[in-house]
Amino acid sequence: MDKYCKLHKIGEGSFGKAILVKSKEDGKQYVLKEINISRMSSKERKESRREVEVLANMKHPNIVLYRESFEENGSLYIVMDYCEGGDLYKRINAQKGVLFPEDQILDWFVQICLALKHVHDRKILHRDIKSQNIFLTKDGTVQLGDFGIARVLNSTLELARTCIGTPYYLSPEICENRPYNNKSDIWALGCVLYEMCTLKHAFEAGNMKNLVLKIISGSFPPVSCHYSYDLQNLLSLLFKRNPRERPSVNSILRKSFIAKRIEKFLTPELIAEEFSHRAFHKFGAHHVPAKRPAQGQISASPAPAQKITKPAAKYGVSLTCKKVVEMPKKFNEKKPPSRYKQAQQSPSKKVNPGEERRKMLEELARKRKLEYEREKKQREQINLLEQERVKRQEKERMEQINRVKEQGWRNVISCGGSGEVKAKRTVY
Ligand code: ADP
Ligand code: MG
Repeated sequence: MDKYCKLHKIGEGSFGKAILVKSKEDGKQYVLKEINISRMSSKERKESRREVEVLANMKHPNIVLYRESFEENGSLYIVMDYCEGGDLYKRINAQKGVLFPEDQILDWFVQICLALKHVHDRKILHRDIKSQNIFLTKDGTVQLGDFGIARVLNSTLELARTCIGTPYYLSPEICENRPYNNKSDIWALGCVLYEMCTLKHAFEAGNMKNLVLKIISGSFPPVSCHYSYDLQNLLSLLFKRNPRERPSVNSILRKSFIAKRIEKFLTPELIAEEFSHRAFHKFGAHHVPAKRPAQGQISASPAPAQKITKPAAKYGVSLTCKKVVEMPKKFNEKKPPSRYKQAQQSPSKKVNPGEERRKMLEELARKRKLEYEREKKQREQINLLEQERVKRQEKERMEQINRVKEQGWRNVISCGGSGEVKAKRTVY
């Protein structure tokens, strides 16, 4: 703590304070999140520490950079970059009802998607996507913040937090007490996109009960018809009530009207890295340049990577490698070795190029099949472990829900008769 000078408090979130600090080492300003963890069990605390350490290693131009974390006097401190442009919530309110151009919305949206992809590819859920957790840097880059804090803390505090926090981003499954999953983040992403389009929340109500009813019904006022069909259609996909029907962040990024913007925000190297089909590799071991390449410099189409690593082993089961199964490319697309080479390899045999090529392709197919089977097995094991973890978490959550229900939740909902929800947007 003595490495930093506290400047002033910039806000108070549901987990604790956010303080603007100045580093005594480099003179730069950072945000220090102070989270009271004294009520956590030592096991939970240990887990939090480990998770936050891993998150501190996540580097992406569209993610607020975590510098370090430490514990002092029963609090967990997380030091992260300070985003001078403030958060998207404030930016939206500053519009005073003037809608954003579609270009602006999509440029912001694609950056949020790139950040979310980086996280989802690593099997981490954000769990707290909202305009107040999306920041603008001095140069206008969008960065997603508060990664993992929610994940670390939410397992036991989720419902309590939801009640005192911002409930507009709750997905139907959470309202129905089903587990949080990656598509719940996608729902929240939809809420943010909708907010950028209308400057309003998609689902609003005077009390918690009506809000939940609206969310579950899945109906929301349409956005301005000035926005493209693509954009309107995307919103309707993000707001699918059934989580399975919502697109993954990767499939959103494959949509051509989104994909064509990627090259504006990531360097070619980063595109190749982020869009390799084994997206989880070299995690935490490198620094990513947050440079923007000149527009039109590269193709936005993802370059497949060959590298296969085992991050699960490195980081434990909660952070596992992406298990997207991509069938091998058409084998006959691969260039066969030149006849000259073949002749060199087996000079005594008469070479039948067709036969050689067929054999080679068969061998290649066999190898890939083996590799695929191996990955499938590994994936199944990881899924099993994950399922157990989710079950455990769910049990803890249910216990917490019951406790909260008994103590405070009824108070929150019935407070003021209607149980008015916090942080209602006032300026449009
Ligand atoms: P919440 O739990 O509601 O997300 P936070 O503690 O994350 O609350 O943030 C509280 C306030 O601090 C918010 O208004 C947010 O805009 C601001 N804030 C948080 N992190 C940063 C950051 N890295 N840069 C600039 N402002 C931040
Ligand atoms: Mg926040």
